[in-house]
Amino acid sequence: MKNILVWFRNDLRLHDNLPLYQASLKAEKIYFIYCIDTRWFEETHLGFKKTDIFRTKFLLESLASLRMALRKKGSDLIIRVGKPEIEVAKVAEMLQVQAVFASKETTNEETLIEFILEKHLENKKVRLELFWNYTLYHLDDLPFPIQKLPNIFTEFRKCVEKDATLRSVLPTVQHFNPISHDFLVGEIPSLTDLGFQDVSISNKQVLHFKGGEKEGILRLQEYFWETDSLKTYKETRDSLLGANYSSKFSAWLSLGCLSPRYIYQEVKKYEKERIKNDSTYWLIFELIWRDYFRFVAKKYGNQIFQEFGIKQNSLQFKNDIYLFKKWIKGETGVDFIDANMRELNQTGFMSNRGRQNVASFLVKDLQISWIWGAMYFESKLIDYDPCSNWCNWMYIAGVGNDPRENRYFNIESQAKKYDAKGLYVKFWLSDF
Ligand SMILES: Cc1cc2nc3c(=O)[nH]c(=O)nc-3n(C[C@H](O)[C@H](O)[C@H](O)COP(=O)(O)OP(=O)(O)OC[C@H]3O[C@@H](n4cnc5c(N)ncnc54)[C@H](O)[C@@H]3O)c2cc1C
Repeated sequence: MKNILVWFRNDLRLHDNLPLYQASLKAEKIYFIYCIDTRWFEETHLGFKKTDIFRTKFLLESLASLRMALRKKGSDLIIRVGKPEIEVAKVAEMLQVQAVFASKETTNEETLIEFILEKHLENKKVRLELFWNYTLYHLDDLPFPIQKLPNIFTEFRKCVEKDATLRSVLPTVQHFNPISHDFLVGEIPSLTDLGFQDVSISNKQVLHFKGGEKEGILRLQEYFWETDSLKTYKETRDSLLGANYSSKFSAWLSLGCLSPRYIYQEVKKYEKERIKNDSTYWLIFELIWRDYFRFVAKKYGNQIFQEFGIKQNSLQFKNDIYLFKKWIKGETGVDFIDANMRELNQTGFMSNRGRQNVASFLVKDLQISWIWGAMYFESKLIDYDPCSNWCNWMYIAGVGNDPRENRYFNIESQAKKYDAKGLYVKFWLSDF
């Protein structure tokens, strides 16, 4: 094949990137494109943007980092703003490529775009080739067909740990062909261009999240090698304050700035060079959760976005909009919930312990649909990932993969256990 256009999606990196690597084997010339989808910034029927400022800022930084990395290797990143199914097809035609290579997505909105783009490309005699690229374990390497995916995580984990092979990290391509100077590569828009006014992010944020492959790798260096935090991860992961109680890799993983296989490889290196213990294993264990939810989404399709979930349980909600707004603002009067929601609102991040509690509180105590909560998280989270978000919400609501019936988080005892001295609540509620 002569020319291939690599369409970046949630895989904003040069390392361990399957479509990019495959393109480098097959093409004489490779071009790169990313399209910012304007539908992400529309308002939902609940009155907030589908994608708010935190993730947008992180995305723009990731694109700048990717563009710089590509320029260093002789190429560039073409940027378009609009609908990818239209913009990518237009650029493919202009550059006279024979194929577009990209990562295969799993959830409805993304796969619909793939479908429409494929049709547009067909008309121009261009092929769309999609590659499974997000998980630690490749879909094709699972020891069962996706329809036989166990509904209980532990069964899945034991099965893959025993019978699935893990692919190694792919080599990073070192040099690319230049793109013609006449070609309009496009500017990366600013936050203001995308309709955001207020760009202030609280300096109380748990970590200064900066988007990009380079920044993701730096965070890994810091968490594993400089601060040695990995060796105590299992003991600290349920904490609430500070940069190093957990890895914070989620933001970089969700946009693909970090590859899960690269993290795995670094854990193995750490185990050889520093220490191998329950904590080093536990980080991989959590990455297997991440895989699991993507495979659940693959198996169940749109059911993960529907109120009855994959268990098909019908739930009764009161859906009091006033209480929902109180929850959103962190004004429920329950300090532990309010502190977590304020952290989310001011920084785009919340710990896993916090997420479990605010989600349970919304659904079980306020009796508000988990769909509303998941939509709000989708808007605010810097690390939003459709599969992890919606499947975790389903799990908490009791319509997902939790084998236990009627799990309930007692917020008071959770706060006593995880914020025994009230430091977290004080930290987030003290301004008010
Ligand atoms: C209601 C709810 C919504 C959530 N929404 C998201 C989301 O949109 N995006 C997201 O990445 N995670 C989501 N999570 C999972 C989890 O809370 C975050 O991955 C984690 O808090 C991110 O912090 P970390 O990177 O420091 O995690 P660490 O504890 O350091 O874990 C390492 C990595 O393992 C993965 N991981 C850890 N826990 C989970 C989990 N429960 N499910 C799936 N993957 C996991 C993440 O990729 C994470 O980066 C959600 C959890 C709940 C309860």
